[in-house]
Amino acid sequence: MQVFAYGAHAADKPLEPLRITRREPGPEDVQIQIAYCGICHSDLHQVRAEWEGTQFPCVPGHEIVGRVAATGSKVTDFSPGDLVGVGCIVDSCKHCEECDAGLENYCDGMIGTYNFPTPDAPGWTLGGYSQSIVVNQRYALRIRHCETQLAAVAPLLCAGITTWSPLRHWNAGPGKKVGVVGIGGLGHMGIKLAHALGAHVVAFTTSESKREAARALGANEVVVSSDARQMAAHLKSFDLIINTVAAPHDLDAFLVLLKRDGAMTLVGAPASPHSSPNVFNLIMKRRTLAGSMIGGIAQTQEMLDFCAEHGIVSDIELIHAEHINEAYERMLKGDVKYRFVIDNATLAE
Ligand code: NAP
Ligand code: ZN
Repeated sequence: MQVFAYGAHAADKPLEPLRITRREPGPEDVQIQIAYCGICHSDLHQVRAEWEGTQFPCVPGHEIVGRVAATGSKVTDFSPGDLVGVGCIVDSCKHCEECDAGLENYCDGMIGTYNFPTPDAPGWTLGGYSQSIVVNQRYALRIRHCETQLAAVAPLLCAGITTWSPLRHWNAGPGKKVGVVGIGGLGHMGIKLAHALGAHVVAFTTSESKREAARALGANEVVVSSDARQMAAHLKSFDLIINTVAAPHDLDAFLVLLKRDGAMTLVGAPASPHSSPNVFNLIMKRRTLAGSMIGGIAQTQEMLDFCAEHGIVSDIELIHAEHINEAYERMLKGDVKYRFVIDNATLAE
């Protein structure tokens, strides 16, 4: 089936309207009519070939929500009309230790929603800046929010799970002090989720102008990270810091804020490396510097259900597809509160 999409033909070219082909649903597939797709900073890294290995044409998008349009003969979990989501994973080996543990995100055979090998044309996966997508039912998520919230649910499929997973892994909750560095798409979800889990939340930002907004998102305190005095007030006090920054920066400035056995997990994935942290900042208080990648399918469902129950969605700016390139430039400047979401109905206009 041919559908409208938006993508780029080269790293230095803007995204433009494209026609792509989607496979017919196989026995275990669900075909999804995409209503909305969030714009993640990873989309920009990939489409501009800031990360290695981008295949062109590249159609990004892994914060997908919509309705099931058709199901294969062996699909048991979904029916046409169901509200569903697809995040960053559309396939995995299904039999390794990671898949068995529900950690498909760490399967060596994980297939990402875009730019990963597939038998489907053109040979690599094409993402959610498109009218529809076909995925194996294992990788589709059920959405229990009400339909009026659907556009604002889309960013949960990446920004939500990427911050939820480390919050759960490091047991964020009452009595824990959690820092979130960078108040963008991921960071604003990290603040909302950590707050909802009952942690004491401190937002770190480079933008003084985000102070009040960060409080409104649920941060108990806000620190402008360029202000040494504000930073020093939090020395040796954090259980967990989630660092979402999309550019290389000084990690030591945050490591020294961890208390004994505290952990900072990097989720931001800049194109070029950070300078190495000072090893003494790890040794001295048995601190951990970690990383975390999205989350497994079961945990993504757990996060979606938690958000539905607690009335949590993303703060979004809904855009027409023809404004995607402009949205990228604004995202780079931090000029978004806090996630752009594409109205996929506009792809056909
Ligand atoms: P985003 O909306 O652009 O937010 C990033 C935030 O980082 C900005 O709003 C800004 O916040 C801060 N920042 C940007 N440049 C900075 C700099 N030079 N120095 C200090 N702070 C800076 O991006 P996003 O969509 O949240 O994604 C963030 C990163 O996570 C990207 O690298 C993305 O590829 C990665 N990511 C990783 C995973 C994973 O599984 N690990 C999943 C999704 C995305 P302030 O204005 O508040 O300082
Ligand atoms: Zn993403």
